[in-house]
Amino acid sequence: MGAAALDGLPGWVALLRAPNPGPMTLDGTNTWVLRAPGEALGVVVDPGPLDENHLARIADNGPYRFILITHGHHDHVEGAARLSEILGGVPVLAADPAHCVAGEPLVPGHLLAAGLDIEVLATPGHTSDSVCFLVDDGDTRVMLTGDTILGRGTTVVAHPDGDLGAYLGSLERLSSSEEVPMLPGHGPVRADVAAVAREYLDHRRQRLTQVEAAIAAGAQTAEQVVDLVYPDIDPGVRFAAVWSAAAQLDYLNHKIGESGRPASRLDPL
Ligand SMILES: [Zn+2]
Repeated sequence: MGAAALDGLPGWVALLRAPNPGPMTLDGTNTWVLRAPGEALGVVVDPGPLDENHLARIADNGPYRFILITHGHHDHVEGAARLSEILGGVPVLAADPAHCVAGEPLVPGHLLAAGLDIEVLATPGHTSDSVCFLVDDGDTRVMLTGDTILGRGTTVVAHPDGDLGAYLGSLERLSSSEEVPMLPGHGPVRADVAAVAREYLDHRRQRLTQVEAAIAAGAQTAEQVVDLVYPDIDPGVRFAAVWSAAAQLDYLNHKIGESGRPASRLDPL
């Protein structure tokens, strides 16, 4: 099966969804294929898991100039080296050198040319190595957000690699790309990345208020925060809520530290 064209998106964007649905991956990892009009060589963003059928489908939609990685979580990058091999050595480019194959690490602010301008935006928070790609054909733009913003629901701040202060800054940054369609790492396309970034910021601020209330009620650990703030959490994703709660405690701890009050009152674990 080929890649499907998508309503409301430029014809040079196609989606190949990986067969790895789950509580953290929603319908599965979105592997994006970009190919500028008239260009033989396309670009793959996030090959996804090491699934030979999925990688063969990606290869069938080639040839490719390079393979881009939004961040180093296995559901995005696990199949990258194998895909590069299948494609005869096409470079894999990631912010983290550990995930690069036959290429240099991505540098935030740099433009990659592929018949399309692909700008690398540093958007740490979900992980320290998370980047977004702002792709421009000279007329239309799209933003590939990886797991920094998902097509539905919220993402996890994967503490301690993820950092809530950095994440809020990344959301602020994305909230300036008005009316740019968003191609997330999981879930459906959204029409306006800026609007979704603002929803995420509101959600994070509400959660912080809830965490502050949980601390006031006596919660001292991430586990205790989860019990108070997420009482109905699905057991299958509780670990992710604990990561996010730890990130929130760490963030609030630093704020308290900066305001001169003792920073040791809260146990971030
Ligand atoms: Zn991730």
